[in-house]
Amino acid sequence: MLVATSYFGNRIIRHVGADVRKLRHEGFDIVVHTFSEGDLRFYRKTVRDIVDVTKETGMHVWIDPWGVGGVFGGETFSDAALHHQDWLQVAADGNKLPACCPSNPGFQGFMCDWTDAALETGADAVFWDEPHFYSDENQRAPCHCKYCRDLAEQGKPAIGTFLRDVCDRVQSRGGQNVKSTIAAGQLGIDVIAIWGFDACESMSFLSCERPRIAWAAFLKGIAQLRG
Ligand SMILES: [Zn+2]
Repeated sequence: MLVATSYFGNRIIRHVGADVRKLRHEGFDIVVHTFSEGDLRFYRKTVRDIVDVTKETGMHVWIDPWGVGGVFGGETFSDAALHHQDWLQVAADGNKLPACCPSNPGFQGFMCDWTDAALETGADAVFWDEPHFYSDENQRAPCHCKYCRDLAEQGKPAIGTFLRDVCDRVQSRGGQNVKSTIAAGQLGIDVIAIWGFDACESMSFLSCERPRIAWAAFLKGIAQLRG
């Protein structure tokens, strides 16, 4: 069994180096490094260095679109959602929601740029972390923009279609995809990442046939998993 953890909030390379060497010593095999919109704009070279120093330990690196567009998981702000009102999701009452729509061509173009930059970091795989529609404390509802409505009329799931497209882009450039779903977390299942699971026919964790990677965020969880 391989064991992965996430690492974020630090862009000081000498500290990252010490931390990842410790992670390797503790028995980790994979590190998920976040690559937010802020990183895309200000820290591309630094993230490449972070990936390098992590791979030097012998661990694999997955790169994560941390909070990008408000579409992916991550506690960070989206500049794209703030400055591109025409990319936003639309509520049933027609109001704009504070997150980009994965079906919107403008946001999809932005994701192409993000994907290319993510692959340039030298990461072993792109970790598509919890793609989802906007939700507040009361509800999680699908988007009602014209692009999502068109997909619905064709019987295509918006997020599944988006995820397939971004994964295809990674694959076309020789990269590897790893997908996680909200469903796994909601079910309280530790195993939420599937290595080399190429098809994305459904957003349901339960559709995955051969889970091989166990995910744990904390050392305590690692100890329990390895029993
Ligand atoms: Zn939409």
